[in-house]
Amino acid sequence: MDIKHIGVVGAGTMGIGVSHLFAEAGYAVTLMDIDADALDRARAEIARNIRFYPALRKGRLPAPAPSLPAEGILANISFTEAVEDLGSAQFVVENATENWDVKKAIFPELDRVCPSECVLAVNTSAIPITKIAGLTKRADRVVGTHFMNPAPLKPLIEVIRGYHTSPDTIRLTQDLLAASGKESTVVADSPGFVTNRVLMLTINEAIFLLHEGVSNPTDVDRLFKKCFGHTMGPLETADLIGLDTILYSLEVLLDNFEDPKYRPCVLLKQLVDAGHLGRKSGRGFHTYDERGILSEETTRA
Ligand code: NAD
Repeated sequence: MDIKHIGVVGAGTMGIGVSHLFAEAGYAVTLMDIDADALDRARAEIARNIRFYPALRKGRLPAPAPSLPAEGILANISFTEAVEDLGSAQFVVENATENWDVKKAIFPELDRVCPSECVLAVNTSAIPITKIAGLTKRADRVVGTHFMNPAPLKPLIEVIRGYHTSPDTIRLTQDLLAASGKESTVVADSPGFVTNRVLMLTINEAIFLLHEGVSNPTDVDRLFKKCFGHTMGPLETADLIGLDTILYSLEVLLDNFEDPKYRPCVLLKQLVDAGHLGRKSGRGFHTYDERGILSEETTRA
């Protein structure tokens, strides 16, 4: 199948990056969200990222091939609140809120609207792909594509093979990612996959350290950066992902494994209740300026 039109559902942190990366690789992208304000914010953020990313990539990452000039990227993306506008897509990536009831409502709709050969890719942090595929009549065409944030700057995507995902769907997905300048690796279906099963526990444990007064956010992150050579510490990573998404992912892991090791720290719940969601709200464990850059105050220590 020749992919020309890609649908992206959800215009939050991930939908913004996923739309950007496919548009930059030359695909026509339709970005859909139920929230008109989210679409406006997405347009503004993609425009800003188009200016910043070339400098961030320099010497570290190849630009996607083919890579469009800046003005071509936004022109490749259309923004809509209507799911029917995904009706001619050959590949759809779903990036809506990490909540089973939200995904449960979306997938039957996508199954109804999208052509039968269209692949439905799920960019979930932890929900099993097989469970989502069961919401459709095309379980063989449903696949997990776990992009990392920010998607245009991350070289590797974790591709998840659901119970019914066909070899053809895996091949098509990996070919599309390769054509967009990305590597991919295929893993079997398990809640949280490889990355988040490890990462969510690490972040939650770091939050428990704060809650117990063992350390502070700057020192926790500094220890991981200076001792282990990590580019970011676990709390900066949590801020980048979004504390609400971390909380929902831990809840999904707890629900699926029924193992209390995944119980979210009460401090995480409190921060989410308080609206401190990380970079996207300007404050999480650290504070950020309007460009999402760590503020002086927390970088000094
Ligand atoms: P987010 O909260 O930033 O954005 C979610 C968006 O989904 C919002 O704009 C919301 O309006 C929209 N939405 C909600 N219901 C919708 C519907 N019915 N139709 C269309 N849009 C709808 O969340 P995010 O961080 O972008 O996460 C999105 C998905 O990607 C989640 O499943 C998350 O687990 C996964 N994910 C997140 C990260 C990360 O680092 N944040 C990384 C990989 C995967």
